[in-house]
Order: sequence, then C-alpha cells, then structure tokens
Amino acid sequence: MTETNAFQMVVSRIDAICDKLKVKDAYRLRLEKCERELIVHFPVKMDDGQVKVFTGYRVHHNDTRGPAKGGIRYHPDVTLDETRALAALMTLKTAVVNIPYGGAKGGVACDPIAMSQNELERLTRRYASEISLLIGPERDIPAPDIGTNPQVMAWIMDTYSMNKGYSVLGVVTGKPIGLGGSKGRFEATGRGCIICAQLAGKHLGINLEGAKVAVQGFGNVGSVVARLLVREGSKIVAISDVKGSIYNEKKLDVEAVFRYSRQTGSVVDFKDAENITNAKLLALPCDILIPAAIENQIVKANAPDVKAKIIVEGANAPTTPEADRILSDNGVFVVPDILANAGGVVVSYFEWVQDLQAFFWSEDEVNRQLETVMHNAFREVLEMSQSEKVDMRNAAYMLAIKRIADAMEARGIFP
Ligand code: NAD
Repeated sequence: MTETNAFQMVVSRIDAICDKLKVKDAYRLRLEKCERELIVHFPVKMDDGQVKVFTGYRVHHNDTRGPAKGGIRYHPDVTLDETRALAALMTLKTAVVNIPYGGAKGGVACDPIAMSQNELERLTRRYASEISLLIGPERDIPAPDIGTNPQVMAWIMDTYSMNKGYSVLGVVTGKPIGLGGSKGRFEATGRGCIICAQLAGKHLGINLEGAKVAVQGFGNVGSVVARLLVREGSKIVAISDVKGSIYNEKKLDVEAVFRYSRQTGSVVDFKDAENITNAKLLALPCDILIPAAIENQIVKANAPDVKAKIIVEGANAPTTPEADRILSDNGVFVVPDILANAGGVVVSYFEWVQDLQAFFWSEDEVNRQLETVMHNAFREVLEMSQSEKVDMRNAAYMLAIKRIADAMEARGIFP
C-alpha cells in the first residue's frame, strides 16, 4: 500500500478499529468493500462541435443505516479508487454525527474550470441520466463537492424530474434556495469546522479570539471558514489555493483577499502579503491549521514540520495514516475529517427533511439544529477518545463503526 492508495488507507483504518472493537468478520468484510460501483463512459458535445467521451462514477459504500449520501466531484484526477475512499468516509461521517444515512460518492474526471457553462450543463445532464438507476430520494442523494455547486445540483434535479414526469426536490441537496435548497447549506461545512475549532480550543484552553490560523484551500469550505473565523476574532495569517499561498505574520484582511481572489482567480500576489509555498503554509507557527483543499496534504514527509496545536480537517482525507502517527506523537490535536467537515452533510440532511416535508426552516433554526448535532458528536468523540485513550480520529472511527455494526446486527443477514 502506498501513502496515496486512497481506499486502502480508509480500509486499513477500518480494519484496525474492527480489531479493537472485535467486530464480527461478516460486518468487517462488508465495510472493506463497496456495495455498488457504477462506472459510466458518456459522450458530451463540446462548444466547438467536437464530441468528447467522459468517465464518471457513482459508488455506494454501505447503506445499512439509511439511504446512501455523498457528494459529486468534478476534477481531472477523479478515479474509482478515490471515489470508493470518499464513499467510505461518508458512511463513517454520517454515523459519527448520527444521521440516518449510509455513504456514497460520485464524480466525473473532467476539468470544470476549462469548460463553459453550456458544456458543464450538457455533461451534468448526461451524467445524471447515466447514474439515475442508482440515485433517488429514498436510495441515494448526491450533493456538491469539489468542482460542483448549487447550479450543478439544480441541473441534476431537473434531469431526474424530467424523467419522472414530476418535480423531485429530495433527489439532491445543496440546491439553490429557490429550488428546495436549505438556508444555511452553503456555509454549513465551514460553520461545522468553526464549531469543532471552538470546542477543540475550549478543550485545550485556546481561545479563538486572537488565535493565529492558516487555511489551505479557499473554495466553498476554506473561504467560509476563514470569513467566519474573522468574526470570532481569530487572525488568519495564511491562505492558499491551487495556484499558491499568501502570508501576513500579523493578519490578512480576509474580505479583501476574498474579493481579490474572485476578481483575479487566485489569492497569489495579494498586495498586503508575501507569497509563500504550500509547504511553508503547512509548517507555519500558528494555533490552528485548517486543511480545506484536497487529499494527502499532510504526509509522512511534512508531518514533523507541522507546528499548529490544532488541525481541523475541512477537507476529506488531508492526512495520511503515517502522518497521523507523527502528529499524535508530537501532541497535535487533530479533529478528523469525518467529524470536522460533517456540517455539510448534516445540513444536507436538514434540506432533504425539508424537501420531503415541503416545509422550510428559518436560517436560525438550521444553524441552531446544526450546533446541537455538532456539539453532541464532538462530545461523544471526545469522551470516546478519553475513555479509550486514543486520538480523536480513532475515537471517531470507533463511534462510527460501532453504530454501523450495531445496525447490521439489528438488521441481520438473510438467509
Ligand atoms: P472547492 O472546489 O470549492 O475548493 C477547493 C479549494 O482548494 C480551491 O480554493 C482550490 O484552488 C484549492 N486547491 C485545490 N488543490 C489545491 C492544492 N493542491 N493546494 C492548495 N489548494 C488547493 O471545494 P470545497 O467544496 O471547498 O471542498 C474542499 C474540501 O472539503 C474537499 O476535500 C471536499 O471533499 C471537502 N468537503 C467539502 C464539503 C462541501 O460542502 N463543499 C463538505 C465536506 C467536505
């Protein structure tokens, strides 16, 4: 197994926890495999008249606890292995925060930044048709991930509804508010990260007010985290995106960076900051580090350089198992992805509930319910970590796997 074999990395963590919890082999074997894996190759007419064939995936890891739930990623590096890994993380995430879902993920290997809106719409509608045999409000509910957004969800909802002959709001979450979306969904992942940062800080005696924070990635998750942290009085000293990183030892003007990056397409060369490398950002002296970009950013080679006291994993799988051991030995408190970035799926769950009931909540109500779910999950993981003397990631995996194994036991295996 290499450090970048994504699904194997998740399975090795699941295996270790199954050993510790003495989970029955029948249940462990189910968690080591994905239940359904669909690969689709489909044509899309590009604006210049050429036809390109794209490859997409939809994977259900496990749906013991409820319908499969997970995002759709548009990125050139999307693979079946990565999709399986992200689907498995969704099974664990929905169990950690105790919402009635299983785990799924999907994606298309494409470069959405290089495509026009019309091309993206054609790609999305064709992909939605291809995976329509798996998705549906009672079986699998996609949501946005890297490279997708509320507009993409609206196209999927429309394509699915056209084939049904009536509007099916609950088939995807993360939709525009005017189309059955939930208030608070767009900020939910970042808001969940902030709640975790607050609770981790409280546990370690670090106040968010005045805390120095570095944020890797400035998309949906990273930009919301940075902007909400400023409201808490934190000092954002570094921000990055795929093109580079910027640093100001005192603090960055996050709103100005946000406007600048939306105008120029990157944070790089922002006037009141120094350009630094991604490696330097991860190694900055700061209180909190928030990886909110992509997988495998904190690895064996750079983990010893991390100086942050707390890591809140906004991204999925930013830390490899080998890096985890090094961070743990160095006393870094890691709030793992399956807890830290679960705010998004929690509010997706609220959106689905609102769609099914055709009754919509106020933003205050959404945020209040999110607080309750995240507080409970953080407390349960911390208690598990203290009683079992394990780090927060192992504790979160233990809590999740116990819940899934209990559900498997209750359902039984036929015949
Ligand atoms: P996004 O596409 O909106 O933003 C990704 C950001 O990361 C961009 O700023 C991009 O430039 C940057 N980036 C990409 N590669 C990078 C690199 N090598 N170094 C530094 N920056 C890089 O995506 P997002 O929705 O913000 O998702 C970010 C992460 O959070 C992903 O791991 C995703 O799976 C996870 N996540 C997202 C949600 C959600 O609700 N959007 C929920 C849970 C988890």
